[in-house]
Amino acid sequence: MSNRPGRPPATSPAYTALTEALAASATPPPCADDPRFTADHDELALQEVDYLTMSRCYRCPLRPLCRAYGDETRPAAGIWGGRTYPAKEKP
Ligand code: SF4
Repeated sequence: MSNRPGRPPATSPAYTALTEALAASATPPPCADDPRFTADHDELALQEVDYLTMSRCYRCPLRPLCRAYGDETRPAAGIWGGRTYPAKEKP
């Protein structure tokens, strides 16, 4: 997840829930400080997205909230709760 310029507005209830959970977390999420999680979709190969979501998102305690935010706002960049929006098509 990210909130860099160009990302969806941070005004939704899902965003509030996610940021509150982040603030309450004792440890940063597995994607913290990894620029691949904020990359534009065309900057990552499908295999890399699959690897990142399987290795990081699926063990992340924030995944339900991160995914809810992604489902609500469908960000045009970044990885959210184990997927991208729109989801990349498999070849
Ligand atoms: S679910 Fe994935 S993108 Fe969302 S906070 Fe966790 S590791 Fe980051």
